Amino acid sequence: MKIDSWLNERLDIAKEAGVHRNLRSMNGAPVPERNIDGENQTVWSSNNYLGLASDRRLIDAAQTALQQFGTGSSGSRLTTGNSVWHEKLEKKIASFKRTEAALLFSSGYLANVGVLSSLPEKEDVILSDQLNHASIIDGCRLSKADTVVYRHIDMNDLENKLNETQRYQRRFIVTDGVFSMDGTIAPLDQIISLAKRYHAFVVVDDAHATGVLGDSGRGTSEYFGVYPDIVIGTLSKAVGTEGGFAAGSAVFIDFLLNHARTFIFQTAIPPASCAAAHEAFNIRTSLKNMGYVVKGDHTPIIPVVIGDAHKTVIFAEKLQGKGIYAPAIRPPTVAPGESRIRITITSDHSMGDIDDLLKTFHSIGKELHII
Ligand code: PLP
Repeated sequence: MKIDSWLNERLDIAKEAGVHRNLRSMNGAPVPERNIDGENQTVWSSNNYLGLASDRRLIDAAQTALQQFGTGSSGSRLTTGNSVWHEKLEKKIASFKRTEAALLFSSGYLANVGVLSSLPEKEDVILSDQLNHASIIDGCRLSKADTVVYRHIDMNDLENKLNETQRYQRRFIVTDGVFSMDGTIAPLDQIISLAKRYHAFVVVDDAHATGVLGDSGRGTSEYFGVYPDIVIGTLSKAVGTEGGFAAGSAVFIDFLLNHARTFIFQTAIPPASCAAAHEAFNIRTSLKNMGYVVKGDHTPIIPVVIGDAHKTVIFAEKLQGKGIYAPAIRPPTVAPGESRIRITITSDHSMGDIDDLLKTFHSIGKELHII
């Protein structure tokens, strides 16, 4: 009882600030037209960028592996959880990312935390973009190295911070490839040339770029034609399944396998998920290959900043009333005063869907005096 009254006080603070969250029940396959809490809605917030999460070929691959391997992996990779599917998928990811090797984690979140908490040492520093994903921030918090935050994609600020951190033994620049809430692209070519000049390593989280950026969807590296030291990614967005990965040199992967606690102490993802993801890489499509028109910074993430958290919630509710599902994104996911509707366009949306979306945004924007 006591714990509830204390927690209610804390929840009330979130409610008053307009940032209290709750769950919505999505019923059916992850396609744009979905039944959400009993209502039919068009979903505009999914990360299933290429529509692969409901692709027949992935479902068939998972089903075949399910029959042979069962539903769970039964252990961590280093005990009883490893299978031929994990190994095949890691080879596939390494070849897709053009690295020597890759290592699977149970999620992209755990890949970031595992790499950042194990790789930099006490005498090192991590230079982290201001808008990096929460899993990067948490990895930095767990690391014994110091963390210095540089202004979002601001190369002058990064260079200043590189100058100010010369006393550290090693420096790691860590950045999202595509920033999840802003849809901006990290200037990886400039980051890598600064890293070369200042003898720093570069770690890129390509969660939102894999399958999306570059002529064959290989991510920010392909988009800029550069090679960072380490690439992290997830299988839960354009790849349409579950799990995360780190890719880099064979020595780095051997190191992670022996040091990354989120790898060592985690049950491996089921072989069936690996088989489905393997099939997704076989399909090797990308939004660009499909001739899809995306706005913003050449990514499918389109943030529409409303500002005030309460107003953003009202906007999202009005959208939902018109059959459009795009939830309000509020602090702490984004900075105070920067609440937004984050639209994501997937290959399953039609031009008609986009027209409807634009018309609805126009009318709600007028109604709420935002435009
Ligand atoms: N990195 C970024 C930039 C993300 O947006 C996400 C999103 O969830 C993750 C990492 C975590 O990936 P996962 O959902 O596989 O844990």
